[in-house]
Amino acid sequence: MLADVLGQKKLARNFLTAWKQDRLAQAYILSGPDGIGKTPFAIELAKTFLCREGGDDACEVCPSCRKAAHGNHEDIEIMEPATKGRVISRDAVHALIETLNFRARSGEHRFVIIREADRMQEAAANHFLKTLEEPPTDVTFFLLTARLPALLETIVSRCQIVRMRRAAPEHIEQFLRDREYAPEKAKLYASLCDGCPGRAVTMEESGVFERRARVLQRLVALTRDNAEIAAAQMLAENKDKITTVTRRNHYDDLGLMATLLRDATLMAEGADTSLLYNPDVASKLQPRAAASSPELLRKQTLSILETRENIERFVNPDLLISRLFLELCN
Ligand SMILES: [Zn+2]
Repeated sequence: MLADVLGQKKLARNFLTAWKQDRLAQAYILSGPDGIGKTPFAIELAKTFLCREGGDDACEVCPSCRKAAHGNHEDIEIMEPATKGRVISRDAVHALIETLNFRARSGEHRFVIIREADRMQEAAANHFLKTLEEPPTDVTFFLLTARLPALLETIVSRCQIVRMRRAAPEHIEQFLRDREYAPEKAKLYASLCDGCPGRAVTMEESGVFERRARVLQRLVALTRDNAEIAAAQMLAENKDKITTVTRRNHYDDLGLMATLLRDATLMAEGADTSLLYNPDVASKLQPRAAASSPELLRKQTLSILETRENIERFVNPDLLISRLFLELCN
């Protein structure tokens, strides 16, 4: 159901109004980081609009809703990059357009969801552009992307850009607890996933607890004498052949570090343990909390978040992390 998609209530309302007033655009770009929920949102929108009950959300029981839930609705087409090469080829776009032109359909309106639309090869994008210039009637396209600048400008100019909202940590925490996550894990994952539920559910497999143990160890042992070595160690550990993976590793480590220092700040202020993100490691953080003022700890937490933001903006991590570690020893 649309109501189950976290963080997008306002966007969903806007879409519903547009649909009811018959002024849905030809094409939308749903833009937002991986895991924010672009695919579920697009599918739930289409499902709701096609629901035979015609309410403000999918009824989940009519034949249309059931087909949509099983991924075999004839009026919902989903395209994604090929497993091999992770690209959308011109042939794939061509086949999609053929389907739109010739395939029999049951409903009044059709929806095409293109995942990772920025993975269209140039010829594919140009071919798709022609479709947008002379669009088939009663079709709405949803182009999903985490890298909006990588989309062809001429395509972007023909679409309405919709920026997905980050979900509130407490909503993600509840979402995880509803899925039988242990309370302490739900709290930690929700705090680390940066408002992206899809990221929260993959944290278990990404070994976040082991990662946190490493980050914590480094943080509590940090001194002026070893800051340089500690920074070099982190850079080496997180290095991957794929630069986006390296960046993601740094991003995750810094996110953990920020929650730990935030907890230390709260402890320095004498706050209750129930407010901590990492209550299970509070005793290890205690010396750090005791050695600094809340003001300094807060400033250091902000520096960590700022470093994380810069890394996401493609600034070279080497200098950023060395500088951050020096600042953290003050
Ligand atoms: Zn229905």
